[in-house]
Amino acid sequence: MKIHEYQARDLFVKHGIPVPDAIVVRNPDEAQRAYQKLEHDSHIESAVVKAQVHAGGRGKGGGVRLVRSAEECRKVAAEILSRPLITPQTDPEGVKVHRLMIAAGVKITKEYYLALAVDRARHGLTLIASAEGGMDIETIAREKPDKLIRELIHPSVGLRPFQARKVAYALGFTGQQVRAGGKIMHQLCDLFIASDASLIEINPLVVTGPTQDYPDGRVLAIDAKIDFDDNALFRHPDLTELADPTEEDPAERRARQYGLSYIALDGNIGCLVNGAGLAMSTMDIIKHHGGEPANFLDVGGSASEEAVTEAFRIILGDEHVKAVLVNIFGGIARCDTIARAIIAAAGEVGFNVPLVVRLEGTNVEEARRLLDAAQADIPMLDPARDLAEAAKKVTSAIGAAAV
Ligand code: GDP
Ligand code: MN
Repeated sequence: MKIHEYQARDLFVKHGIPVPDAIVVRNPDEAQRAYQKLEHDSHIESAVVKAQVHAGGRGKGGGVRLVRSAEECRKVAAEILSRPLITPQTDPEGVKVHRLMIAAGVKITKEYYLALAVDRARHGLTLIASAEGGMDIETIAREKPDKLIRELIHPSVGLRPFQARKVAYALGFTGQQVRAGGKIMHQLCDLFIASDASLIEINPLVVTGPTQDYPDGRVLAIDAKIDFDDNALFRHPDLTELADPTEEDPAERRARQYGLSYIALDGNIGCLVNGAGLAMSTMDIIKHHGGEPANFLDVGGSASEEAVTEAFRIILGDEHVKAVLVNIFGGIARCDTIARAIIAAAGEVGFNVPLVVRLEGTNVEEARRLLDAAQADIPMLDPARDLAEAAKKVTSAIGAAAV
């Protein structure tokens, strides 16, 4: 599960990680007042207006903008809120911005990258750092992998002080920066473990210009990203509440409500399958016959007629779908349930694309009888005897539709 920057920032604050002052707003009036408040409380000379969306790369898309007055803050806030934000990580049509974070402007001396991730191959957490922060870290990882510092953290011992110092020195930190940076690494590890995170990323972590109180500058997190492990969310009702349904794909959200595992893909053959393994092999066999699946959809072992009907609604609601392949191996799921759902879906939403159905297993005779009886009402229905035949039929239906 992903959360917004301002929510991740709140968790940073709870764990003592230093961040600039900030206020979350929903409209230009609030943005203007937020600037005035920061001016009054934190004596800022500038602020950063930051779009709160889950996608990264906001800076590149005009979703992070420096302003120098309350009026300018208001104007820029109005601009960002008025249109979808398009970044390298969003769809081409962009995402709607509902909230902004107005953050105290920081005089940056240098930008760094600091992250914690689960390293499955090495069975631990890995601290990842780079003195080349702020930029596209994926590009650095690809083109200059030696610029990434990696430190494996032992799962039961945790980050050791010498490791934090080693990373701080490798980043080029000097004086008080070493202690400040090391402390942030420890706090980051505590937060990661306490919240069952799967990724925490600070890009950039910055060193600010020197002041009287901080002759070596301050080390601050000016961006905050946290992903949580979905399978551990049951332990964190407070974190679960941070989910933002407006950021989710609506079809994937509906699917989850009905207990369906659904992931939209780029192809045009809608798939309705039971069991993740069968769903994977169905996708493989579609590809083997030259087709492209439009989705991964596992209705699960004990799917109800209602859930399967919803699955059809989701598949047929996707305008890219030009044919549907139903592939059910009735074990716990019963073929007649699926047949009834097909008939219900035909009555309700109607099949205007070819529908190839392969059923096998529990109650298959009853299912075939139901479908035979309904055939006259569902002219697009095309039963297949086995998976290979089903894949051939559905891909050739697409081929025929294309010419
Ligand atoms: P992202 O593009 O979505 O990762 O958003 P960030 O929060 O990382 O902001 C993008 C960039 O804006 C950062 O890499 C910084 O260079 C810049 N930035 C953000 N906050 C400040 C600030 O307070 N002062 C200055 N000078 N630049 C900032
Ligand atoms: Mn960033």
